[in-house]
Amino acid sequence: MSDFEKFKEVLVKSTRVVGFTGAGISTESGIPDYRSQGGIWDKFQPVYLDEFISDESKRLLYWQRKKVLWQGIRDARLSRTHVFFKDLYDKGSLVGMITQNIDGLHEKSGLPKDIIVNLHGTNLEVICLECGDITPANQTLDDLNLDNGVPLCEKCNGLLKPNTISFGQSLVAEDIQRAEEMALSCDLMIAAGSTLLVQPAASFPVIAKNNGAVLAIITKSDTPLDDNADFVFHEQLGGFIDRVKKGDGF
Ligand SMILES: [Zn+2]
Repeated sequence: MSDFEKFKEVLVKSTRVVGFTGAGISTESGIPDYRSQGGIWDKFQPVYLDEFISDESKRLLYWQRKKVLWQGIRDARLSRTHVFFKDLYDKGSLVGMITQNIDGLHEKSGLPKDIIVNLHGTNLEVICLECGDITPANQTLDDLNLDNGVPLCEKCNGLLKPNTISFGQSLVAEDIQRAEEMALSCDLMIAAGSTLLVQPAASFPVIAKNNGAVLAIITKSDTPLDDNADFVFHEQLGGFIDRVKKGDGF
């Protein structure tokens, strides 16, 4: 039996699957990979959270960038991998979805919010840094005009920021805890499209594996966890998912 056949057998038998996704699944939706050549950091300097708070010109730069990126984020379509995880949920086996992506595409696929952990936040929401009020991003970004400065909270006049984790900003403790609980509760973790290099995100597949779950890694490049995983497929995701969904058992 090939590794692929064995993986498919495990997938079909697993009842508590947790997905872990990174940029690779969203590049197939047309969202640029931040870390690859030609990624957006080549065009825009990153803005750190403390600069955003203290420096009006940095805030403006930040919002200018979001304005440029917004249409692509808002109109991004699901990749085959997003649909695959939704299929698993519909079959009753997907119990958690941990993602490093900030494009909101797992929500768009129809997965319920309470099984998704957006480790690095989401661009589909805007948060007030003062009162914590969260609003859908389109309310701020669809008609954003920066001629008179950056957008402010309607309730308290505080600074608004897309609800993503910025450079120099800590992850949300509650999200880390939920991701840990998911990692400890699964019998199969599928890490898809992540280089598994960024911490603490990449610790969750390790937690799952150490707790007895099967770990499957599907991504184009080598990862530091390849030697620990039960299955490693260095393939283009879309084609791989097509093969998984072909034939019996799915
Ligand atoms: Zn506010």
